[in-house]
Amino acid sequence: MEPGTLVYDPETRKVGEYQDKTGPYVMLRPVGGGREWQADPARIRVATLEERLRAGVRAANDRSREGLSADPTRPPAPVPGCAACEELAARRDKARAAFDASAVTDANVLLRRHQREVHGGEPAGRRIFRYVPYTIVQDASALPEYEAHCVSGEDADCGAGSGPCSAPAEVEEWQRRHTQETLHTRYRRSFADYAVLERQG
Ligand SMILES: [Zn+2]
Ligand SMILES: [Zn+2]
Repeated sequence: MEPGTLVYDPETRKVGEYQDKTGPYVMLRPVGGGREWQADPARIRVATLEERLRAGVRAANDRSREGLSADPTRPPAPVPGCAACEELAARRDKARAAFDASAVTDANVLLRRHQREVHGGEPAGRRIFRYVPYTIVQDASALPEYEAHCVSGEDADCGAGSGPCSAPAEVEEWQRRHTQETLHTRYRRSFADYAVLERQG
């Protein structure tokens, strides 16, 4: 087998790049890089097109999650060890899993904002677009909007809403009042702001 061939390992249910033989094993490397693993040469087989595609997509996702991708439109990555970043990233993962695109955007907005406020920007190298001389900044002339909708209810969401508020505290006050009146306890909160691109230099 040629080194670099993509093979399927039923033991780990993963696709790996064939490296070489060591003793009774073959060494496989994850698609996109990472720690090699040992596999049984009698069990591995050449990966099907579908398996190869799936492995490639997964590797690309892992890469962008780790912030190694060069795509400037990629979402912000959490700063390792920061609980707030982690919480927002987890919220984003959940939204992604639920195919809730607007909740994903909300989480990204909050994550960028938090990173700007707490970490002085996104992790190093992420906000500088080397080939595109624009910086994206929040539009200071338009107030950010905070809003909550009540999503309590068995068959259908209650749907009551706070309306756009200029501060998170106003939204919370509305939630407390609504819960007081209705005993509803579940809300979808959203955040919106305006962004402008400023040409550099
Ligand atoms: Zn953080
Ligand atoms: Zn309600």
